Amino acid sequence: MKHVLAALLMGVAFSCTPAVIPVYANPKPNAPPRYEIALWFDPASHVPARPVLEACTAWTALGIRCIAVSDPRYASVIIASDAGACEEDEDGFAKIASFWYSSGQLVLRSACFRDEYGDEEIGRIRASVRHELGHAAGIRFHVPARCIDSTGGKVLARTHSNGQRICGPAIMNPATNEDIRQATPMDALAFDLRDRGCSVLRDLRQPNEMKVCNYLPEDPTEAFPAPRAK
Ligand SMILES: [Zn+2]
Repeated sequence: MKHVLAALLMGVAFSCTPAVIPVYANPKPNAPPRYEIALWFDPASHVPARPVLEACTAWTALGIRCIAVSDPRYASVIIASDAGACEEDEDGFAKIASFWYSSGQLVLRSACFRDEYGDEEIGRIRASVRHELGHAAGIRFHVPARCIDSTGGKVLARTHSNGQRICGPAIMNPATNEDIRQATPMDALAFDLRDRGCSVLRDLRQPNEMKVCNYLPEDPTEAFPAPRAK
């Protein structure tokens, strides 16, 4: 079974943050939401719902809203946890959350939340879920904090069809920054380049056209339910 892992890397040492983090402004701020993500919280995970739903509001300016559903059959994302070790890799990062396109699971690593979801951990949940929801929405890449590799001079950033390089402060930076609480202009450009055929977003204008790509469980014996019925 091939899983596509979109890993969140949680920085232990934060990268430089500009004094003012730019925020993406929806040109039609009062427009109704365009997309919906239906979350089901696996009771076994013990992940608190509030910071997850709060994290989702980072994407409001892109027209996204989240709802919590009580029946996993109606979920497009399942909030779960795993029992892996909370360890830093050689770069000093610890993976604390991930999104699995194959099963639609957003998995938080329990061992990184030993403080039983105290205030500091709640902040980390928000930051990590903001990022993973971006992946779930179909952003299957990271926005580099720097446009050009500082040592080799290699261009790291993708280029939007409008010619802009997609780099700089973003929820979708590979190392999350808890100070970035709303989608930035770079997140908005990344959202434009999302994989529309592999996104959990339900288009509220075209509710019968939800695409599921490889999001459906590939192994029918998996315990996870299929996404919402049409
Ligand atoms: Zn990521």
